[in-house]
Amino acid sequence: MTQEKKVSVKKKAYVLNDELADKIRQEMKAKNKRFFNVMGSIGAGKTAILEQIAEKLSKKYKVFVINGDVATTIDADRIAEHGAKTVQINTGGGCHLNAQLIQNELSKINIDDYDIFFAENVGNLICPANWDVGAELNIVVVSITEGQYVVKKHPIMFKGADIALINKCDLNIPGFDADTLVKDCSMIKSDMKVLKTSAVTGEGIEELIATLGIEL
Ligand code: MG
Ligand code: ZN
Repeated sequence: MTQEKKVSVKKKAYVLNDELADKIRQEMKAKNKRFFNVMGSIGAGKTAILEQIAEKLSKKYKVFVINGDVATTIDADRIAEHGAKTVQINTGGGCHLNAQLIQNELSKINIDDYDIFFAENVGNLICPANWDVGAELNIVVVSITEGQYVVKKHPIMFKGADIALINKCDLNIPGFDADTLVKDCSMIKSDMKVLKTSAVTGEGIEELIATLGIEL
């Protein structure tokens, strides 16, 4: 394939994905459902945050979580312990979720059986930013163990996010201030909502739920 042709095939894949993502978003809105996409590195604490959220929300709402990972059902099994219905997508080698993978799972259930949907994306701070999954808001989780330059080094991910969580704030890392990451997020996107969280102490979780506009 010529280089030009390769580029146009890739472009077409993005266009088709964005169209399907918009369709998912519109359907969710029409049905008065909420759908959030959670992104972040491997080990940032996406699953732990979702465990905390599921624990609180499932007392009042029906929650459905779609977990994306290359292999295993570990994350879906963990979150299912907290009252949510979960399904695991194994992407094989795939390093991100896309709208088609989400649509495949939504088509297997009755959307009306649930109130709030989450996707836990495959762990990385690069390509999930380019693949709209049809969520109304994108949440990026970054932990203070990822180093002081992690936000600055991934501007596309943070530009595309509506909410950033600075996670593992219960840890004390000498010489490291979580507020540096908060500031970096605001530099990349001035209107981004940034919250400091800990899935261990529960810091920031209720604030996050309120930020999503969900009443507990
Ligand atoms: Mg996970
Ligand atoms: Zn990818």
